[in-house]
Amino acid sequence: MGSTTTTETTASNFVRDIILDDLKTGKYQGRVHTRFPPEPNGYLHIGHAKSICLQFGLAKEFGGKCNLRFDDTNPEKEETEYVDSIMENIRWLGFDWEDRLYYASDYFEQLYEWAIQLIKSGKAYVCDLSAEEVRQYRGTLTEPGRESPYRGRTVEENLGLFERMRAGEFPDGTRTLRSKIDMASPNLNMRDPVMYRILHAEHHRTGDKWCIYPMYDFTHGQSDSIERITHSICTLEFEDHRPLYDWYVEQLGIYHPQQIEFDRLNLTYTVLSKRKLLTLVREGHVRGWDDPRMPTLAGIRRRGYTPEAIRNFCASIGVSKTNGILDLGLLEHFVREDLNKRAPRVMAVLRPLRVVIDNYPEGQVETLEAVNNPEDASMGTRAVPFSRVLYIEQEDFREDPPKQFFRLAPGREVRLRYGYFITCTGVVKDEKTGEVVELHCTYDPATRGGNAPDGRKVKSTIHWVSAARAVDAEVRLYDYLFDRPNPNEEGVPFTEFLNPKSLEVVTHAKLEPSLAGAAPLGRYQFERLGYFCADLDSTAEKLVFNRTAALRDTWAKIEKRAKEAE
Ligand code: ATP
Ligand code: MG
Repeated sequence: MGSTTTTETTASNFVRDIILDDLKTGKYQGRVHTRFPPEPNGYLHIGHAKSICLQFGLAKEFGGKCNLRFDDTNPEKEETEYVDSIMENIRWLGFDWEDRLYYASDYFEQLYEWAIQLIKSGKAYVCDLSAEEVRQYRGTLTEPGRESPYRGRTVEENLGLFERMRAGEFPDGTRTLRSKIDMASPNLNMRDPVMYRILHAEHHRTGDKWCIYPMYDFTHGQSDSIERITHSICTLEFEDHRPLYDWYVEQLGIYHPQQIEFDRLNLTYTVLSKRKLLTLVREGHVRGWDDPRMPTLAGIRRRGYTPEAIRNFCASIGVSKTNGILDLGLLEHFVREDLNKRAPRVMAVLRPLRVVIDNYPEGQVETLEAVNNPEDASMGTRAVPFSRVLYIEQEDFREDPPKQFFRLAPGREVRLRYGYFITCTGVVKDEKTGEVVELHCTYDPATRGGNAPDGRKVKSTIHWVSAARAVDAEVRLYDYLFDRPNPNEEGVPFTEFLNPKSLEVVTHAKLEPSLAGAAPLGRYQFERLGYFCADLDSTAEKLVFNRTAALRDTWAKIEKRAKEAE
């Protein structure tokens, strides 16, 4: 498995403890074999990453294997596009299933035979109740269910009908194959669950070969068994399905893997249901599955996150037996921590204000040396051009500075990063609007590199770019996709909680010339502004950058927002 980072911690967790115990007792002869079983009905998201890191991570830690298995039993919602993106995203995260790529649909024939086996042993029957009737007969948590009037069919009758179901003789929904367990079981999943349904639908792999499809519960455990999985790790909602999982493998007398459930990842300001993510894409609330605001791996990647940051996040959160909701700020923390170490610093001005250095020679361009990463000397230095006309950030100047504002103001001296001290001597305004459009300054040639020989201090250092050499770029600034910590409230369509300000496009940012030709997905720290990466839309003619994350932890901001939403 291609992970290279050394910062990942293998946090202790209860799933790992179970495996350690099984290794001690020799339960699976020292084997550890897990699997990641996505349904190809959407793109992978950060919640899947938690599962992937757990499954592949445990296999790696114990010298075992992890399979990739597409759980493709539902022909109606599944598409090849999703299969491809899932594989790409897992590889990008740094994991490798080697030659162990499987599809549940590869097991359809074997599952069919197993269904026949259960019919023959009197454990399954063909039921003519409609889906609605099956629901009515099932009972409730407080009331037992009623037995289907078709429960008493003979083995021969059931075999004949099931064969005809497969042969396509009956329309969709007219019959099902059900297992004969216990209509009074306190566990609703055990009340004669459906094993097969009739569905005349084209499957992304088997085409029109089948018109009956096995249900998830009749597929999953047996697929695990076929692949000789040792630990079938899944999320908590399957806890109530475990007795059924066990029942099928026991009735069939086949190898019995062990199902273990852990908590789903939930994040504030985020939806992780594939149905909801699909709605966002279909209704055009985002630009696609890989929109940088999406919690999909494709989106997070485009946003500039590194696989290492995601793996570190997943390792740090561990697993538990209760579902909770984590702060989105925690994920941001891990990308900042990673990019701080590896992203080269550059200077960029998002909202430019023109500055003319009156005492700097016209037409002259000199080269200053800037450090690429103060955290890592091996990243070296680069040349940054300095000239008479510069751009600084509009918000780094105030004509009437408030008390705590130490940046540029009339008559005040500040340091230009890696440059000189400058003093503001004049302000040019738009005659009509009164808006400040240009500053006039003087520079002190003795302060080259950023220090005054006479020891005088300035209170702030601001970033800048040379107007003569700047390159233009579009910069996309992202905020949370939703306007409240929990957009998953019952009874309200989640799209009501979309944050209208989740995307802000800055069209005329000015970047230092070293960024010309930045490769898509190249990651940088724009000094004082945050982490940014070149977007996939970026070309040599038109640079486009995404803000991955603002610089500082936004805990305070998060808390403030949480209060506002209360
Ligand atoms: P949804 O309910 O949104 O459709 P799902 O759980 O059905 O999601 P699958 O494609 O079946 O999605 O998921 C594949 C694997 O990823 C499963 O083992 C599932 O338990 C796990 N998984 C999905 N979502 C999360 C999550 N939020 N946190 C942890 N694991 C998850
Ligand atoms: Mg699922």
